Amino acid sequence: MTTERAASTPALPFDPADPVALTQALVRCPSVTPQEGGALALLSAVLTAEGYEVHRPVFSEPGMPDVENFYARIGTEAPVFVIAGHSDVVPVGDEAAWTRDPFAGEIENGILYGRGACDMKGGVGAMVAAAIRYRRENPDAPGSIAFLITGDEEGPAVNGTVKLLDWAHRRGERFDHCLLGEPTNPGSMSDMVKIGRRGSLTGELTVNGIQGHVGYPHLADNPIRGMVRLLAALDAAPLDTGTKHFDASNLEVTTLDVGNPATNVIPAQARAVFNIRFNDAWTPETLAAEIERRLREAAGNTVRYEIRFRPTNSVAFLTEPGPFVAMVADAVEAETGRRPALSTTGGTSDARFIKSYCPVVEYGVVGKTMHQVDECVAVADLAALERITNRLLASYFAAHHKA
Ligand SMILES: [Zn+2]
Repeated sequence: MTTERAASTPALPFDPADPVALTQALVRCPSVTPQEGGALALLSAVLTAEGYEVHRPVFSEPGMPDVENFYARIGTEAPVFVIAGHSDVVPVGDEAAWTRDPFAGEIENGILYGRGACDMKGGVGAMVAAAIRYRRENPDAPGSIAFLITGDEEGPAVNGTVKLLDWAHRRGERFDHCLLGEPTNPGSMSDMVKIGRRGSLTGELTVNGIQGHVGYPHLADNPIRGMVRLLAALDAAPLDTGTKHFDASNLEVTTLDVGNPATNVIPAQARAVFNIRFNDAWTPETLAAEIERRLREAAGNTVRYEIRFRPTNSVAFLTEPGPFVAMVADAVEAETGRRPALSTTGGTSDARFIKSYCPVVEYGVVGKTMHQVDECVAVADLAALERITNRLLASYFAAHHKA
């Protein structure tokens, strides 16, 4: 095994314990979803050389491109500390608008530029580097470190984390705690650790009327009148006032369509779509029931409507503050001098899938430029993330050692 591994591992032109060099090398792999782009091959070479057992399962789904994913583990004992992330990136967009080659990983004035620099090759690079340094310095460390890296986070996310977690579970892998390295910080490395995420529910509302001549309204039934009444009812009272760790749930109407170009015609139908970002006071089912109740009340027996909710796998979840969350916040504070806020804001993330297997906390670089032209990350932030992750691993396994 050892000789085979050594023979298949090409020599790297840099030390992968250097978070900046590793991030640059990852950025140079054009891994736009669903392309692997060399990113997982690079991680495979890096971690194999450090003694990890590496797997690169490919997942398929009819009508969708196959996607390669990545799992690596060092150690055979519990506890298993998992570092999760994704190697894929969003497309470049308007390439002419970039002031630098999006796949060159250039550094200028302490800033590393490139697609994925902050979302999230910087996070992967810094965390892999930190784990490498930790094991090199502590070859007899207890427990195991694992990496769960998907190639399908920015795409449909069908052949990604959900299947990778299931694949690992079937193999008998059991995880104790997870750090997901998405860019969580709005402005500086001490801003926030995410301990949960809101859920997301999308509803499609249709109001049916009767088409007719504006001059003969008694022969028609204008659906816009009913739609206005229903939407007002959805907006009238807040869904809740927030919970201990979450802001209030929020409903936004995202589109309202009638598509009627004529000024003398009462249309037959009006359609609206709304999206709710909801906290841990709700499940998609209880929330849908509340929306249906409000619509029923407002409609009485005069508005004819249909409501349909799109299927969702975005439930709200919380990793309760406790020893693990405190350990992450302690590591951030020790390296940055400021205690980060424990937040549940923002969009959804793969943490919503991981939370079914083990407690998960999210922490990563500053996300200001994610998905933008000239995406970038500060070299100093990569170094800070490497130190924070290294410190976290040290305190995590030291705590286990004592126990
Ligand atoms: Zn991301």
